Amino acid sequence: LKINVTEIDIPLAFGPAFEGERVRGGDLFCQMGGGKTQCTELVKMADMKEIDDAKVQVVGPDIPDLKEGETLPLGIYVQIAGREFQEDFEPIMERQIHHLINYIQGIMHIGQRDISWIRVSKAAVEKGFSLKHLGVVLHAKFHQEFQKIVDKVQVTLYSNKEDVDKLTERARAEYKRRDERVDKMTDEDVDTFYSCTLCQSFAPSHVCTVSPERTGLCGAYNWMDCKASFEINPTGPNQPIKKGKVLDTKLGRFEGVDEFIRQASKGAIDTYNFYSMVHAPMTTCGCCECIAAMLPSCNGVMTVNRDYAGETPCGMKFTTLAGVMGGGQSSPGFVGHSKFNVTQKKFILGDGGLLRVVWMPKSLKDEIYDRLNARGKEMGVENLADKIADETVGITEDEILPFLQEKGHPALSMEPLIS
Ligand code: SF4
Ligand code: ZN
Repeated sequence: LKINVTEIDIPLAFGPAFEGERVRGGDLFCQMGGGKTQCTELVKMADMKEIDDAKVQVVGPDIPDLKEGETLPLGIYVQIAGREFQEDFEPIMERQIHHLINYIQGIMHIGQRDISWIRVSKAAVEKGFSLKHLGVVLHAKFHQEFQKIVDKVQVTLYSNKEDVDKLTERARAEYKRRDERVDKMTDEDVDTFYSCTLCQSFAPSHVCTVSPERTGLCGAYNWMDCKASFEINPTGPNQPIKKGKVLDTKLGRFEGVDEFIRQASKGAIDTYNFYSMVHAPMTTCGCCECIAAMLPSCNGVMTVNRDYAGETPCGMKFTTLAGVMGGGQSSPGFVGHSKFNVTQKKFILGDGGLLRVVWMPKSLKDEIYDRLNARGKEMGVENLADKIADETVGITEDEILPFLQEKGHPALSMEPLIS
């Protein structure tokens, strides 16, 4: 028996029309995540007997308990059971949380995984918005849009620090396991890449092309995930792209990809390169986990992750960079990418690859430390992580250059970044 959910029982209007709506400073009642508190999302497959369909639980304080301007930590834990459901579908369902929560009038959702950010407007609170409604929406929409694979959906909203931290730790292990599923694959192994146009509602000309060695810039979709998503929904946002003729091996340009993006961006984008940030980089939308930018006087590049709020040597903070280039255009000299992508083999390989990276925030460096050193070693440089400057060394090119010289950073002896 398949359950049909047609009603979404919340006190607020709901639909794609509200997706692009912002909750700005003056309208803001409270927020979860966004660097103020931890906000984490996790979808896990469950056994049919283990969960109850439509059960939504709030564990911890709720919105009505808050005063204006306050924050809450939040863990959104969705369990899904279905005869046709597979573990491989978890990341796909999890990535829907972003647009589905955005569909609620007066609620804004940014980011994904363990860097989510939800802003709740005063108007929504006046109408009686509660954390429970997030679960009501996810239950209803998962049934509606994924009827084929979903039989039961149970949602738990954690809003006390202890539970959120516990969920986050577990989620990070899950993200790691998902990311590593493509670790052994190369772009040359496959003749098909996958598109992702899920973000076109925000960034109309934006087309992610996801290859084994380039995960989606949001970090939430890799090649395996897009492949599974296409299997669930053959007319959906993840379409196979035949690579076709290789037009540029070094920069990563493919005839089939160019044809696809021309049509998918409705003529706005003619071409882009997979492995370059300097020359016609891939388009960037506001969801990216990191943004890389050139640092000409260091002959290198920097990258900054969303969860770092400070200044950077390119003169812009993450939020400024995301505002300038997150609208779906291709911006030479800048590119959005996932955290995992930094240590994937093709990361800006056309521009010299990982060995070009001269600065990143300490938090990101610590997070991917072992992978940085492993990939650096593969490229012939020992202890690469310790040669990369961070904000404790400096936040301008002048401040970090002496450090790079002292450590013998490989970028300094590479060919000029811009020829
Ligand atoms: Fe898809 Fe790219 Fe948006 Fe991620 S950032 S959801 S891969 S379009
Ligand atoms: Zn996006």
